Amino acid sequence: MSLGEILARRIAREGPMPLSDYMALCLAHPEFGYYPTRDPLGAAGDFTTAPEISQIFGEMLGLALAEAWMARGAPAPFLLAELGPGRGTLMADVLRATARVPGFHAAARIWLVETSPALRAAQKRRLEGFEVSWADTVAELPDLPLFLLANEFFDALPIRQFRSAGPAGWAESMVGLEGGRLTLGLAPPVPMPRFGAAPEGVVVREICPAGEAVATALGGRLAARGGLALAIDYGGWDGQGDTFQALRNHAVADPLEAPGEADLTAHVDFAALAAAASAAGARVAGYAEQGAYLMRLGAGARAEALAARADDAGQEALRGQLTRLVSPEQMGRLFKVLALTGPDDPPPPGFEGRE
Ligand code: SAH
Repeated sequence: MSLGEILARRIAREGPMPLSDYMALCLAHPEFGYYPTRDPLGAAGDFTTAPEISQIFGEMLGLALAEAWMARGAPAPFLLAELGPGRGTLMADVLRATARVPGFHAAARIWLVETSPALRAAQKRRLEGFEVSWADTVAELPDLPLFLLANEFFDALPIRQFRSAGPAGWAESMVGLEGGRLTLGLAPPVPMPRFGAAPEGVVVREICPAGEAVATALGGRLAARGGLALAIDYGGWDGQGDTFQALRNHAVADPLEAPGEADLTAHVDFAALAAAASAAGARVAGYAEQGAYLMRLGAGARAEALAARADDAGQEALRGQLTRLVSPEQMGRLFKVLALTGPDDPPPPGFEGRE
């Protein structure tokens, strides 16, 4: 049995399912889901990410966390956590960059929130020599001052999608079955108070209830214990439009073909995450484009320092990597950074005087 057959049977039995259910099953089905069954990263996989492109990414974020930790009076112990750590590369770079920050490693309780057994194994290998614990959800993390990173985590959470349908309201995108094939359709329109009246013409709105729940949980912890959470992802502030997409072998694919075999994602609505975290008591301490943020943290100087020790080919590679991370034509503008802190915490590195 394939995931496609499982989905077809379920739809035949129960009727069309919301896009969010489809996305959740494709990404997380324990036996056939995309993440539980593979390492999707790198050249041989479906997509690549900033930490896989350059060590500078993790180094800058690690030093930003350590600086924020010191500015808060170096609480010990504290929680050094990551959501959706992939191969563990980002955390490995964070730990290398912060090795000489006095007391940081000794006070850190390292926790990774990861549901995929395949990726947990990769993280374990990558972080050998460190004491690391794993959790399935944020709720399972210990109650400590929180210093947390989430890179390309929120885009992997299921979204609900709605289309404006005139006075009747908003029609939700559903995955149904026609002639044995999965198809995208619409549920009958309903009022959606959160979106207001549906305008004329086609307007698409997306919400990510799972992402908002995570932001609420992080916000509550930051409110109670302080710290810094940095969420980095592609998306925008109050994003609109259809951003649901499938990626397979580094190319855009049909999201209904080969369920469980493609990475399904949507752009992250940072305004919704910020609203959820701030309703839970956290402070929204900053929002910026990835390129500008990394340069403010010193990515340019770090690339120069690395280049000074490299041969010609190495220098060329370093320049290429930095360009990929920060240039507006590449990841620099599409990717954003959201910084959340406790209500009494000082502004975090890169966001001083910018609230
Ligand atoms: N942060 C990494 C990997 C991004 S891929 C990097 O930048 O390279 C998305 C990651 O989130 C994977 O590790 C995936 O297994 C994990 N993930 C996806 N959905 C999740 C969920 N609901 N709970 C926990 N982890 C999840």
